[in-house]
This record gives sequence, structure tokens and C-alpha cells, in this order.
Amino acid sequence: MAGHELLRVVTTVLGAAVVGAFGLSPGASPEPACGGFVDARPSPARAARVLSLARSTPEGRRALAGVSEPEICFDPGADARSVVVGPRTLVLVAQDDDRRLAARAAHLSLHRREASLFGESPSVAGCDAWLSRVLAAEREAHATEAAVARELAAPAGSGESLEELAVAYRARCR
Ligand SMILES: [Zn+2]
Repeated sequence: MAGHELLRVVTTVLGAAVVGAFGLSPGASPEPACGGFVDARPSPARAARVLSLARSTPEGRRALAGVSEPEICFDPGADARSVVVGPRTLVLVAQDDDRRLAARAAHLSLHRREASLFGESPSVAGCDAWLSRVLAAEREAHATEAAVARELAAPAGSGESLEELAVAYRARCR
């Protein structure tokens, strides 16, 4: 795995960890703008377009139905990744096509329902059991993302493989 790819995977894991931190402390200080991603910016018009594209597909509608309306920011950085941050913020890769981002938003919306699972930092002893639950959730989310992308004829964009995710998640076991 190239260095920059590893960095991106690590960022994914950090993003997932932030989900847990926010998810478990609802009384904590207010969420920073764009989840604290300093380069990311909101764009209400683009966010509405992305969500409407996602909801134009059955799988996207299903994924978004179970969660509150997300707050979406767009990150223009070259190493940007599309991640969930905090209880309701999605940071999406600005350079990706809106149809790709709609598929990604469906994927990430499924993760928002399982914030406590993704926020866990399991012991080494409990690692295999946790990993199999996390990877099952990732498989479902990837399948949903692929279905939405197919239906919208979305061009390729950023995203990580299940193999990369497995390595990154396993590194969180302590
Ligand atoms: Zn995922």
C-alpha cells in the first residue's frame, strides 16, 4: 500500500473514532463547523442536489430514511476522503462527481445508524468478534453504495476497498 493510501485509511479510522466520541457524549460542547475539517465548506445547494440524487434510487432512499437530515460539507483537499464526522455531519470529497457522492452519502448514512459500533476501541481479545461485525456493516454499506452508483451511472471516485478497511480497523484493537 502506498504511503498516501495508508494515510487515507488512517483518516477513515479517525473519522470513525470521532463518530463514537460525539455519539457517546450528547451533552458535550457543540460540534465544530464541518466536523472540524478546516478546509471543508458547506454548500447547501450542492448538498441538496447530492441528497436528491441519492433519494432518486430505492437503495439511497432506504439508507437515508433511518437517520436525521445530514449536514454536508465538501472538502477540496487532494487527500480528502468522504467520511462521517460527529452525529450528523458528512464531509464529502469536493472533486468527486455528485452522483458518486450521492452513492457515498448512502453508504455513510448507514454508518450513522451504527455509530456506537464504529466508535468502539476493542481489546485485542475482543478484536475478531468486533471486526467481523464492523466488516459486515461495511459490506452492507459498500453494496448499497454500489447499487446507488450503478443506478445513477456514477463515474468512479474516491473510496477504499474492504481489504484496506480490514487492515485499518484491526489496527484499532488494543
Ligand atoms: Zn464504510
